[in-house]
Amino acid sequence: MQEYLISLSFFSALSIVCVVLYAFTYFLPTPDNRNKARSTYYFRLVLLFTILAFEAILLRYEYLPLASIVVSNIFILMTSYMLMFAIYTRYDYKINRKHYFFCALHCALFAIFIYLLQTKLNGGYLRASFVLINIFIPYAFTIKKCNQQFKIHRLGDRVLYGSILITLLIFVAYIVTYTLFFSEERQVPIVLYFISLLCFVCVLFFGFALSIIYSLVGKLRKEIITDRLTGAKNRNYLNEVSLQMFSLAKRTNSPLSLIICDIDWFKNINDTYGHAAGDKVLISFSKIIESSLRAEDVLIRIGGEEFIILLPQIDLEQAMNTAERLRTTISDLPIHIGKNTISISASFGVTQMNTDINIDDNINNADIALYEAKRDGRNKIIAYQN
Ligand code: GH3
Ligand code: MG
Ligand code: MG
Repeated sequence: MQEYLISLSFFSALSIVCVVLYAFTYFLPTPDNRNKARSTYYFRLVLLFTILAFEAILLRYEYLPLASIVVSNIFILMTSYMLMFAIYTRYDYKINRKHYFFCALHCALFAIFIYLLQTKLNGGYLRASFVLINIFIPYAFTIKKCNQQFKIHRLGDRVLYGSILITLLIFVAYIVTYTLFFSEERQVPIVLYFISLLCFVCVLFFGFALSIIYSLVGKLRKEIITDRLTGAKNRNYLNEVSLQMFSLAKRTNSPLSLIICDIDWFKNINDTYGHAAGDKVLISFSKIIESSLRAEDVLIRIGGEEFIILLPQIDLEQAMNTAERLRTTISDLPIHIGKNTISISASFGVTQMNTDINIDDNINNADIALYEAKRDGRNKIIAYQN
């Protein structure tokens, strides 16, 4: 009777923790993507099945020891599957009927085997290993999915991946401890079970919540440094990236160049075809430049129709060649506006950056060259001469 009361108090404690975490999931940011938003739904099921797995232990006090073991293990397996579904949807992989069917079939076969092991072979060690192997199946899929995402190197993904590995270790530690010290009794040691499940839900929640929060922070940061219209970077990014590039250039003693470009007679496009057409020109302009640059180059929209390009490890001559390539690409680019097809041109000012002066002064230098290019008749490239 006393043991029953202890179990009941552990059950209440675990339930309270799970309910609190469950409630917290409603305060987590919801991803815009509908499929990814389902991830939180599956995560709530993880919490629910964890409570049920513990609850099932109480059945043994109702003189149902066999049912208690079978049901509890099924819920543990279900928990692993819900975790797998949560991670799949988190990474925008759709869960369909096939997955549900596989999960149901696995749980059914698992239940039969657990029943047979317990009745025919009398449980203990064999059952523990069998449970671990089965839990490992959804875990293997989950870890594989995380691993694919891991290449992105985002902090949130790493935290989530780490927390999943830790929960797997918790299962292993539980089963090893159980097998070594308690399997003779063939009764689940309630304290051990309680601590394992408590650690399991807390570690998972921590990883899951941090991964969602980090995603949101990453998304916000991207929005802050990105120009909404063109998708190029904006001024907010300039200071940060220029400091990085300056320090790289100094450290490796390599050149660093800057091109400033401005669309010619852009006001006329707005005046003739309207502001929306002007916007379309800006988008096409930005896209074509971006696609002509190397991955390490950075395009920043610093004003209305004015952009700068930072070119690490590129000297003045190479930067002039790049600018020439951009100039011809832009003047060859047909832009369709309604029934009309127009062409545009741009002028360029180029400088190899002086890392002893700040980025704004370097931009001013390039601007002097740009001004000359404009004065020289536009659709030109001029290098800054100091
Ligand atoms: P120049 O060849 O000397 O550069 O002449 P310009 O007409 O290109 O330069 P100007 O500075 O006279 O005009 C720039 C125009 O860009 C004025 C402004 O209305 C327009 N502009 C600025 N931002 C935007 C924008 O986001 N969308 C659109 N459609 N137009 C913009
Ligand atoms: Mg202009
Ligand atoms: Mg301008």
